[in-house]
Amino acid sequence: MSQSSLKQPPPINGDLYDIESELSDDERAILLRWRAFMHDEVAPIINDYWERGEFPLQLIPKIGALTMETIGKGQTHYPRMSPLLSGMLTAEIARVDPSLCSFIGVHRRLCMTSIWLFGSQEQKDRWLPPMLRFEIIGSWVLTEPLVGSGAARGLLTTARREGDFWVLDGAKKWSGNATFADVNCIWAKHAETGAVNGFLVERGAPGYHVEKIHDKISKRVVQNAMIRLEGCRVPEANRLPGARAFDDVARQLTNARADVAWEAVGIARGAYERALAYALQREQFGRAIAAFQIQQLNLAKMLGNVTAMQSMMAQLAKLMQREGSISPERSSLAKAWCTEKMRETVAIARAMLGGNGILLEHDVARLFADAEAVYSYEGSYEINSLIVGKAITGYSAFV
Ligand SMILES: Cc1cc2nc3c(=O)[nH]c(=O)nc-3n(C[C@H](O)[C@H](O)[C@H](O)COP(=O)(O)OP(=O)(O)OC[C@H]3O[C@@H](n4cnc5c(N)ncnc54)[C@H](O)[C@@H]3O)c2cc1C
Repeated sequence: MSQSSLKQPPPINGDLYDIESELSDDERAILLRWRAFMHDEVAPIINDYWERGEFPLQLIPKIGALTMETIGKGQTHYPRMSPLLSGMLTAEIARVDPSLCSFIGVHRRLCMTSIWLFGSQEQKDRWLPPMLRFEIIGSWVLTEPLVGSGAARGLLTTARREGDFWVLDGAKKWSGNATFADVNCIWAKHAETGAVNGFLVERGAPGYHVEKIHDKISKRVVQNAMIRLEGCRVPEANRLPGARAFDDVARQLTNARADVAWEAVGIARGAYERALAYALQREQFGRAIAAFQIQQLNLAKMLGNVTAMQSMMAQLAKLMQREGSISPERSSLAKAWCTEKMRETVAIARAMLGGNGILLEHDVARLFADAEAVYSYEGSYEINSLIVGKAITGYSAFV
């Protein structure tokens, strides 16, 4: 037996600065419940689902039950919790599986939030309680095959009024959950005024066609879809009355981006912790590879990234708690910077596993691949940097 394997290694801890201690005792208990769920019920099956490109639908009732435990009985429409707990839960889920994080994010952070912010009271009463329990699943549909980052400049999908109905025509791309969602929040341009409107399109609506995107190398568990809207008829009662312009969508995305930055924290932490565990047990030249100077430098770099990302996000959560909202540049800086550091971290982790770094069985490969989608969605690295650039210089450099 070699020298290195005689020693008991220190516990692996990706929260070196103890950000978790900022949570109250009750909040920490909630975090631990989600941690146990991810460890016991998601981790053992998720690589298999990732490889097959399928979603573990059987987990949805459990996610609903855990959500209700998390928010308590008093809340019926929309989950309210401290920004720090909300962010740390996102990171905790992503630490094991970024796809599940997307599933919940699209359903809650995007679809439910649109209804909460822009819906009528009737729409809120009809959709939000069952969505809170995950009995009804939502998707959020903005991006189009020909319009991605440039959505602010105008969508091609149109909405035309016909009596008590709206008629939607166009194409959408990427919408997560859309292959099985019950309600899809679709953004379209008013055919006459050009203003952006939101519509709740139910599964099976006439003229609504969904097709799964198959050939992904990232977030394979997320069910992303191509959507065709061919004279899709939606009742006026399903139009979100509070959404009148793209600025409304942008406001919503500002909050969502901060949550994606927390997702990046979780992915980086998961990759660091798995790489360290691997480096402690993998031996070459008669020693654990964790004993080599270069690998310790890599581990310190990863832990530095994770710690800086967590600290930035914890401060952002404090600002959100204190000010009640978050500015676009604060949110975009967090999204751009954390996803960049995440990408660096997962690449180091993958390399640290050598050939095994490309095998799903060690988990790092999945985090490495999933990180690529996170880097590009909810505003790419470049777009979020341009939002920061505009705020700090006063010049818009988008075109
Ligand atoms: C896994 C996944 C899930 C998704 N889920 C959803 C969803 O649920 N709902 C939804 O509506 N959308 C979703 N999206 C879409 C996502 O938001 C878009 O992919 C993203 O906004 C980028 O748009 P695009 O892919 O069309 O890239 P493009 O806009 O074509 O950009 C291509 C490249 O050009 C760069 N670029 C663009 N404009 C500029 C500029 N002005 N200056 C410098 N560089 C620029 C971009 O940064 C990028 O590198 C998802 C995407 C993925 C991959």
